[in-house]
Amino acid sequence: MLVPVDPFIRERIHLTGSVQGVGFRPFVYRLATSLALAGFVGNNNDGVFIEVQGHAAVVDRFKARLLAEAPPAAFISGVYSHGMKPHLETGFSIVSSNRDGGDMPALVLPDLPVCDDCLRDLRDSSNRRYRYPFINCTNCGPRFTIVEHMPYDRPHTTMSPFTMCPDCRAEYGNPLDRRFHAQPIACPDCGPQVTFVHGDAAPQHADGAVRAAIAALADGKIVAVKGVGGFHLTCDATHAGAVTRLRERKHRPHKPLAVMVRDVAQAKTLAYVSEEEVALLTGRERPIVLLYKRDNAALANTVSPDIGTVGLMLPSTPLHHLLAEQMPLVMTSANHSGEPIITDNEDALTSLSLIADAFLLHDRIIYTPCDDSVVTVAFPVRRSRGVVPQPLPLPVTLPPLLAVGGELKNTFCLAKGNQAFMSQHIGDMQNLETLSTFEHSLENLQHLCHVKPQFIIHDMHPGYLSTRWAQRHAARHNLPCVAVQHHHAHIAAVMAEHCIASDETVIGFAFDGTGYGTDGTVWGGEVLLANYRSFERVAHVAYMPLPGGDTAIRRTYRLALAYLWACDLPWDEDLLPVMVTMPNERRILLRQLAASLNTVQTSSMGRLFDAVAGLLGVCCTATFEAQAAMQLEAMCTDDVSAHYPVSDSTFDPAPVLASILEELRAGVPVSIIAAKFHNTVATWVLQVAMRLRQLHNLDTVALSGGVFQNRYLLERVQANLEQYQFTMLTHRQVPPNDGGLSLGQAIVGYDAAKRSN
Ligand code: ZN
Ligand code: ZN
Ligand code: FE
Repeated sequence: MLVPVDPFIRERIHLTGSVQGVGFRPFVYRLATSLALAGFVGNNNDGVFIEVQGHAAVVDRFKARLLAEAPPAAFISGVYSHGMKPHLETGFSIVSSNRDGGDMPALVLPDLPVCDDCLRDLRDSSNRRYRYPFINCTNCGPRFTIVEHMPYDRPHTTMSPFTMCPDCRAEYGNPLDRRFHAQPIACPDCGPQVTFVHGDAAPQHADGAVRAAIAALADGKIVAVKGVGGFHLTCDATHAGAVTRLRERKHRPHKPLAVMVRDVAQAKTLAYVSEEEVALLTGRERPIVLLYKRDNAALANTVSPDIGTVGLMLPSTPLHHLLAEQMPLVMTSANHSGEPIITDNEDALTSLSLIADAFLLHDRIIYTPCDDSVVTVAFPVRRSRGVVPQPLPLPVTLPPLLAVGGELKNTFCLAKGNQAFMSQHIGDMQNLETLSTFEHSLENLQHLCHVKPQFIIHDMHPGYLSTRWAQRHAARHNLPCVAVQHHHAHIAAVMAEHCIASDETVIGFAFDGTGYGTDGTVWGGEVLLANYRSFERVAHVAYMPLPGGDTAIRRTYRLALAYLWACDLPWDEDLLPVMVTMPNERRILLRQLAASLNTVQTSSMGRLFDAVAGLLGVCCTATFEAQAAMQLEAMCTDDVSAHYPVSDSTFDPAPVLASILEELRAGVPVSIIAAKFHNTVATWVLQVAMRLRQLHNLDTVALSGGVFQNRYLLERVQANLEQYQFTMLTHRQVPPNDGGLSLGQAIVGYDAAKRSN
């Protein structure tokens, strides 16, 4: 009988994914050492490489535990191993990084929230990092925003100017320490410092600065605070005067402000928080979560006026923990409307001098700006800090390409193979500041993800800054350049997210404010039969006039008048939009409409919501995008199932507006009319879907576009479609708004580029 021999072997193992900067090498070191295996571990461009040597059974055990016990922040996307010839080697070591590597990039992690262990150190007065705002370890701390190069090592981050003190160096070099090879390791002796600047007073440093900032906040001051991805403008969220001053100085009268709370318990005193929402609040991404506000919430009324929700987030950095411990804080990105978040001390001191009373600065450079992410329990609203640059899996294989996104809430998307790398929120691509952040972020992400685009994809709108940039860039680099229709990209984005196969066609409802149509009009209430390759526009909202174009859309009372006119409904004196419009303005508007002067045609669903809000007097002048629709949604009562007349083809606003006028005059409450209007749109979706199912034998319905951030509408559409057993695709990974557009562009555009070649 043969005695089984356990052979002595050596294996090289290669792991790809987010395996750098999460304590992976120390974990491997500890595991291999505990199993008495020889070999080494190191980082290279595309991940972690390991060589282990020992008896086969032990090596197998090592490999099993390698995956099962990997550090919590790690995300392994691939494991490759092959046998090698054993050689004389004793002990296990961590070797320095090797910049050569394979083709698949090692993924740099998003910035991680401070971990519980570090929080304990932060609050332990005997710890040498007591109240030190930059405390971190391999399980937490900044990543994406400080990385300049791969592989992720300290000299390649904005921590490189800080020389480690002997104590930090000892921790950094000790494989048994939680901070072993924690690249941003720092302490009060050697790391970044905060500085508090308040008028002409002498600047304060270290913990004195933090305490001074807290005192200023408690005193109702507005403080610009430098965080991990950029500056926030911060004030006491319970202080009505401070919030009002912030709004006045930022010229932001209504747009809701996010609030940072100490913990979940405090969040629950301000809003209704479900278990699922607790998970979002406490998740690794630490996003702003949009929650239904409590009536008795102890917040200044002006934090999120006239809408039913409030955005709350938990602190993610040690500095934010120290500040938010004292009071709930308004936290709004420090920027000029639509421009990128400010990251630089000098820039903040000058450009925020008229807004902020004081500044809490620090001296670690933010290499890549990154705004807070925003989510609801149903869908993401902004995919940014804590998420980017995690890739999204694609249902098809793409060559290296770049999709530049749209205009508002711009993101871009780099894709390669079956992975898509979406950028962080860049801003509204309407000015040079945003364009330069776009270029910087693009260069950075290309480098981090090893994508060198061979195709450039943009929106069909010839006037978008992103379109013109794409065309220039493509011409300069002699790359094929393809335009993708806006709403096709929306539908493709939600399809891609659900990994719909490339030969499948869906019924797509793309409802948003504006997007360039193939006929040159402004689309936005579109029903498309779509696959990745092409689409057919099978129904839409009837064209309505948009007098004054984009500049006039915030004046919802004028929009209401234009819609009434187009629907042959008279401008009677008892109607609110008529009352608030001077006779002279009405005469001019009438002439403009009749002659179609400076007036574009639109099938926009977003504008229809605005017009109804204007007609009901819910919102006469909007100061931010979607304000009217948000206020209209907040008006709705839940217990109404009735709706106004609709057909199963073109959505005709005329009978809807006529019915609304009738009910207004009959004294029906606005809350019921608002609900019935929402129900009307949801009913139209169902009727159109039913007809298309019958005609084309399709069962899958995709919902996209900013209008579907309306949760009242989304819930009713979902309920309707579920009742009739449709398969529904809604956004779970990328926003329904234009922040998700670039993903759809990437997948549609490649197909078009391939054919045009
Ligand atoms: Zn930590
Ligand atoms: Zn130190
Ligand atoms: Fe859109």
